[in-house]
Amino acid sequence: MLPGLEIMPSVPHWYRGRMALVGDSAHAPSNSSGQGVSLAVESAGELARCLRDLPDLATGFAAYERRRRPRVEKIASDAAKTNNQKAAGPVARTLFRLMAPIATKTFMRPEKMLGPVHGYRIDWEDTVAACLKTRRQEDRFPGEHS
Ligand SMILES: Cc1cc2nc3c(=O)[nH]c(=O)nc-3n(C[C@H](O)[C@H](O)[C@H](O)COP(=O)(O)OP(=O)(O)OC[C@H]3O[C@@H](n4cnc5c(N)ncnc54)[C@H](O)[C@@H]3O)c2cc1C
Repeated sequence: MLPGLEIMPSVPHWYRGRMALVGDSAHAPSNSSGQGVSLAVESAGELARCLRDLPDLATGFAAYERRRRPRVEKIASDAAKTNNQKAAGPVARTLFRLMAPIATKTFMRPEKMLGPVHGYRIDWEDTVAACLKTRRQEDRFPGEHS
């Protein structure tokens, strides 16, 4: 029911002079691919290899882009296809726009939905021995009772 995601378009040039792009600056796939970090690390490794093994920056950068572009663009386009299949039609999009402000103020509040994961705190001042005696609510697993 969510509207289609905005996807970063293909970047025409990955390097110029002494500068080369790596990671999201060159290829940010839709987050639905779950591959952004892996691709960034792979590209960094490939760039390092190309600069290690080729005689100058221009040749190294060109080889880097040639070796990486097909893979990252395939992953980005597969993710875009998945997103399009899941994207809502015009009626659902209108409903979503109308409902979203109400939903985020009531049952879809970010603190409620994301709080248990993103709001985790470690109380540095609290000693571990004291924690073991009285396990705090936030130290328990979801569904676990005292
Ligand atoms: C909501 C969301 C969910 C995601 N989920 C996943 C997932 O589940 N799995 C996955 O693999 N990927 C996921 N990604 C993608 C992943 O986060 C990125 O692909 C990855 O972080 C890219 O790494 P990067 O080093 O290229 O860029 P970044 O991680 O964005 O690092 C760039 C860094 O440069 C810094 N910076 C920017 N401008 C300057 C400047 N002028 N000077 C100095 N520093 C600067 C920024 O502050 C930042 O720290 C997700 C992304 C989003 C937004």
